[in-house]
Amino acid sequence: MGCGVKVWLVPGSRFDELEKGVAIIPVGSVERHGDHLPLGTDALEAMYVAEKVADELCAHLFPPVWYGAAKSLARFSGTIDVGDGPLYAYMCGILRGVASMGYRIIVVVNGHGGNTLALRLAAKKVSFETGTSILVVNWWSDLAQEKRRELFTYPGHAGEDETSAVLHIAPETVDMSSARDHITEPIPSITVYSPKLEEKLYPRAVLGKPTLASAEKGRIWLEEAAKDLATKVREVAKLLELKV
Ligand SMILES: [Zn+2]
Repeated sequence: MGCGVKVWLVPGSRFDELEKGVAIIPVGSVERHGDHLPLGTDALEAMYVAEKVADELCAHLFPPVWYGAAKSLARFSGTIDVGDGPLYAYMCGILRGVASMGYRIIVVVNGHGGNTLALRLAAKKVSFETGTSILVVNWWSDLAQEKRRELFTYPGHAGEDETSAVLHIAPETVDMSSARDHITEPIPSITVYSPKLEEKLYPRAVLGKPTLASAEKGRIWLEEAAKDLATKVREVAKLLELKV
């Protein structure tokens, strides 16, 4: 048992007495992840990393945001896209609320690429409004990248890496008999908005080779990512001269 606090399970009287240091908010997406992973994959992963980091830092864990901006896979059944604007406004409200309680650092652990723009804009806006420091982390691409490269040959949406993560977190939600690989030529590492490219990359809402996944690789990756994030939060706290 770590020392993180799930704030939604704490009575109000006790919550008032708690010191408000670091708050962590996981953000996910309700989105199709091939035929083998659950629709809640991104939230499950973000919640898992967020909880580990909260335990490591004795931080306060806030309830997850389940719904996100998921335009690129909105054509698949099971995906719900709330849109960038509504997600931005919703996140501004959540961040303002958390900042107003006196937290010094807020860490947004994002589990879904489509949310990035709205989350960064909301964090920037509320940080400069309130003076609270807000970190936005895309856990799968900002953390433990060396380990990710070492562990996985064919990563991607619902691919080898993400499937491994869910096999570790919630194996009962995975149907490996439905896993199908989908490989494309390497994707240039620049931002491209293109529905045509999305269709080429995700004909079945999968990219990479989920058939190579394993729970053990998922465990190693997730643990490394959580450790990496805890270190980065500590580094930011040190720069801000805060004790974490
Ligand atoms: Zn995902």
